Amino acid sequence: MTCKSVQTINTLLEQDKQHVWHPYSITQSDTSIYPVKSAQGVTITLMDGTTLIDGMSSWWSAVHGYNHPILNQAIEQQLHKMAHIMFGGLTHQPAIELAQKLVDITPEPLQTVFFSDSGSVAVEVAMKMAIQYWHTKNQTQKKRLLTIRHGYHGDTFGAMSVSDPDNGMHSLFNNTLIKQLFAEAPNCGFYEVCTAEDIAPLASQLKTHHQEIAAIILEPIVQGAGGMRFYSPMYLYQVRELCNKYNVLLILDEIATGFGRTGKLFACEHANIAPDILCLGKALTGGYMTLAATLATNEIANSIRHGEPGIFMHGPTFMANPLACATALASVKLLLESPWQGRVKNIASLLQQGLSPCQQYKHVKEVRVLGAIGVIELHQVINLKSLQPKFVAAGVWVRPFNKLIYLMPPFIITDQELDRLIRAVVKIVNEM
Ligand SMILES: *Cc1c(COP(=O)(O)O)cnc(C)c1O
Repeated sequence: MTCKSVQTINTLLEQDKQHVWHPYSITQSDTSIYPVKSAQGVTITLMDGTTLIDGMSSWWSAVHGYNHPILNQAIEQQLHKMAHIMFGGLTHQPAIELAQKLVDITPEPLQTVFFSDSGSVAVEVAMKMAIQYWHTKNQTQKKRLLTIRHGYHGDTFGAMSVSDPDNGMHSLFNNTLIKQLFAEAPNCGFYEVCTAEDIAPLASQLKTHHQEIAAIILEPIVQGAGGMRFYSPMYLYQVRELCNKYNVLLILDEIATGFGRTGKLFACEHANIAPDILCLGKALTGGYMTLAATLATNEIANSIRHGEPGIFMHGPTFMANPLACATALASVKLLLESPWQGRVKNIASLLQQGLSPCQQYKHVKEVRVLGAIGVIELHQVINLKSLQPKFVAAGVWVRPFNKLIYLMPPFIITDQELDRLIRAVVKIVNEM
């Protein structure tokens, strides 16, 4: 490090502090922040030359690691054709091929694809589709959403309205949100039996309110940012049955769980069920670009097509961005051609072995692993300000929140890299 480059870094950091907002932060914040120079495979290189093993996949998304030659090629080739073109009245091969691919790999009833810019918007689109569907059926009273607690569906107003109202990050806005219906989340873990007690709260809300409910929205099997909770596939299966019984649509938000993270390509496969509407995002482009998709059944698409006003009332400016679609198509193909099942299984067993010693520590409440997700839940809220620099000093990138330290590395991580990541985390948790 020359004097000059240290100076450059300090100037940049000062400007960042003055002018740039980061996720769930304020400008001028005094918590540490690290400028990244580049990223390659599972290695993040900071501007000062420090290298970190990535334990986050940039929040579920970089499943193939960074700077992948095949994804680079896909985006470069598309760039020389067109970076973007409006999607109203025009269409293009990357969007069509990606839509076809998504229809092929998701549960059979899902046949139509709406592209949008981010996960939150995909959720807004799903909610609007459900409401508009019932509108076309002359059931305009069916406009509320039912969900379970501890959910997280995004940061926009509709998505906030179905995220956990208390433990979530949005309680400040509660008074301005649409009032949706909430049921207690199930307590059955992934490997446990779902009892009558687990399903009763949701069943009772449905029984009372089904006439005004457009859809149930859930994160299948793994509740992510609302608490990294895993629940039984039996629960999900019963939710599907209840939706059928009460004539309510099922929206599954697989923005976090999609594309192999839980050990199945889509988490709903654990329960062998299909939703009426499915939201995808995060790993869709392998973490390269922001892109999301909302898939719906023909029944929903046709009802909206043939109902009043005959069109779906949503259309983002950057809908189906060609660079993003081309990259997503390459990413999905790359995933399907890779031995991802074996990789995820291997990550799961190394996480299980490696993290389980933490179970003995007094300040640890629970260690749980599902697919390529490892969670250490503590009894108390973590002091990020003191903990974050320790992870960086240990050469790993881990970003805890609330009471949770969690790992979800890129699928391409080697055993040695994963071992280093796990050892660093276990040592730091031990010393807390
Ligand atoms: C991240 C996430 C979202 C929101 O996606 P953004 O791209 O951040 O808008 C929605 N639902 C789930 C389950 C998520 O994990």
